[in-house]
Amino acid sequence: MPIESYNPHTGRVLRRFTAFSWAKTERVLSQAHRAAAPWAATSFAERAAVLRRAAALLRERQADLARLMALEMGKPVTDGRAEVLKCAACCEFYAEHAAGFLADEVIQTDARRSFISYQPLGVVLAIMPWNFPLWQVVRFAAPALMAGNVGLLKHASNVPQCALALEKIFHDAGLPPACFRTLLIGSDLVERLLADDRVRAATLTGSEAAGASVAAIAGAQIKKTVLELGGSDAFVVLADADLERAAKTAAQARMINAGQSCIAAKRFIVEKPIIREFIRQLKNHLLALRPGDPLDDTTQYGPLARPDLADELTRQVADSVAQGARVELFGGQSKPGTALFRPMILSNVKPGQRAYEEELFGPVALVLEAKDADDAVRLANDSRFGLGAGIWTADLRRGEALARRIESGAVFVNGLVKSMPELPFGGIKKSGYGRELSYLGIREFVNQKSIWIG
Ligand code: NDP
Repeated sequence: MPIESYNPHTGRVLRRFTAFSWAKTERVLSQAHRAAAPWAATSFAERAAVLRRAAALLRERQADLARLMALEMGKPVTDGRAEVLKCAACCEFYAEHAAGFLADEVIQTDARRSFISYQPLGVVLAIMPWNFPLWQVVRFAAPALMAGNVGLLKHASNVPQCALALEKIFHDAGLPPACFRTLLIGSDLVERLLADDRVRAATLTGSEAAGASVAAIAGAQIKKTVLELGGSDAFVVLADADLERAAKTAAQARMINAGQSCIAAKRFIVEKPIIREFIRQLKNHLLALRPGDPLDDTTQYGPLARPDLADELTRQVADSVAQGARVELFGGQSKPGTALFRPMILSNVKPGQRAYEEELFGPVALVLEAKDADDAVRLANDSRFGLGAGIWTADLRRGEALARRIESGAVFVNGLVKSMPELPFGGIKKSGYGRELSYLGIREFVNQKSIWIG
């Protein structure tokens, strides 16, 4: 794939970049490796000062960064501005809490003193996707840098300007440049990087295929990975739920980032007595959303990030309909090769259909009928994925009990599933492993060293 900025709204190529050669990539790696020890030796206070300045710069450059995301991957500027603020808050969160999260932990043993000490690993490679071009990177970089690691970013090939803008923010914030570098490379150089002893670990957010490949290569090199992959999350609506709130949130949940979010609700599992009314309300909310130019403040959803993603989604829908799914709301692409995809609702989604088995990474809501709450849990768990589920019920105790039975990395009862710095984020099954954010996230890429003093 070429490394280029392509505006999915206009169909124009904005900028092309020459990919780094291996020689150049190796030079950057070598600088990062050399920078790792001095950075690891800095204090938490010094690192926090850099992260706080990065947060301030993110806020200062909010409008420009939102514009860049709109141009490179079609995110409406209002959403882009919110994403930038979330990144700033994440930098500040780790600036504030990293020292506490990584403080020595005393453990009583037969020693005079024994404790766990958390120490940085060195160079961590981050392979990141285009859907939240800033947030996905910052939620890796903020804890990694605070832990004393250095980062190499291989961003998705369609968001190079976002990648460079973020690199500049860290550098302008006073981070020694070699401690965070953007590598303008395709995925073809990833294997060579992972095979290099100077790369100590890797994190990837993206598709199952990319995750499996990176994990296999890293596994052969005995290197730790964190994988944050796809999802086909359940949004369970029980008959006693506040249907209006549930339907409104359902539309919002499905349409996050034009449906291109790993934790977007994808399968709406609804108890039989309310399913028709749920579909009616969901349809109204989806139809009320305004598509348009991502640069326009009034736009509520933009195109998908690339036309090929819209083409693939169209094929998934067409195959599912041929396999028996019913279209409740007509939408989709106006013609192949274009990136705008209007929301759709499919019902009668059954095992064996592509919509049931695969992740639909765009604005297609699948509505499945549940006989009762147990059946809803069964359907929710009948998925290869498990990232962030939702349950809607008036009975909070029942909601909590059901939440414990859902196979996923998170469950939100009566609320929109979202990521936040305080709570761990990640999946089980084919949604990946490891956790980002919270104190668990910052402990992924550290040597959890036991020290025993007799
Ligand atoms: P990819 O998984 O291909 O891209 C994500 C990142 O991984 C990019 O940086 C990409 O680089 C890189 N990559 C891809 N293949 C490899 C590989 N074999 N080895 C190393 N790195 C690799 O996502 P796509 O853009 O192709 O989107 C396809 C699907 O992926 C979506 O429809 C969705 O299902 C899923 N996805 C999930 C995301 C999530 O948040 N969990 C985010 C994005 C996509 P490059 O761009 O150079 O190919």
